[in-house]
Amino acid sequence: MAFLRRSSSISFALIVLSCLIVLFLLYGKRDPLGNLESVRVVRILDGDTVELADGRVVRLIGIDTPEKGQPGADSATICNTTLVLGRTVRLEYGHERSDRYGRTLAYLYIDGRMVNREILNAGWAYCYFFQKNLKHGRELVQALDAAMDGHRGLWREPRPETADHYIGSNAGFRFHRPNCPSVADIRKDAIVVYTARDSAFYHGFSPCRNCAP
Ligand SMILES: [Zn+2]
Repeated sequence: MAFLRRSSSISFALIVLSCLIVLFLLYGKRDPLGNLESVRVVRILDGDTVELADGRVVRLIGIDTPEKGQPGADSATICNTTLVLGRTVRLEYGHERSDRYGRTLAYLYIDGRMVNREILNAGWAYCYFFQKNLKHGRELVQALDAAMDGHRGLWREPRPETADHYIGSNAGFRFHRPNCPSVADIRKDAIVVYTARDSAFYHGFSPCRNCAP
């Protein structure tokens, strides 16, 4: 009898273990983001920056929204607010976890949707890449292109050109006015020339902060 009791408890343990493995596999498949840290968003600073309940300030990576006072800045902030304020988000860190201002660099997720991508898709941001933070580059450029093709947000009205052509760097993903001093620093084999400003945006380039093309 003692032997039977032991063997039935072993079978029971095996059944429980196999159920746990099945649950783990199912859960893992349904929720690939399940291992990411979850934190609530308590404040929106602008279109691409939020504050978390634990006090950290997060800069959403791969995107840039208009600065305060620029056209579209308020709409970008509203878009970000609608998506994440008061919600619990999951954080996926970039290659570098923080920037020189001490902000956390991350992709945010709600219900499996990437917030960074959603803001681009709504048309309130352009792509903003650093060489080491290209993880979701392709899907972010696709979201931007969809917004531009659909004339959403910043892309609703055609905007005037600011130069007769623009010079981009395939190595740094920035584009410049032809007379910008930074152009001299671009490696010859990395130079790309665009005749329209929006073509540079469309390919995932962001405007130089100095010459502001
Ligand atoms: Zn420049």
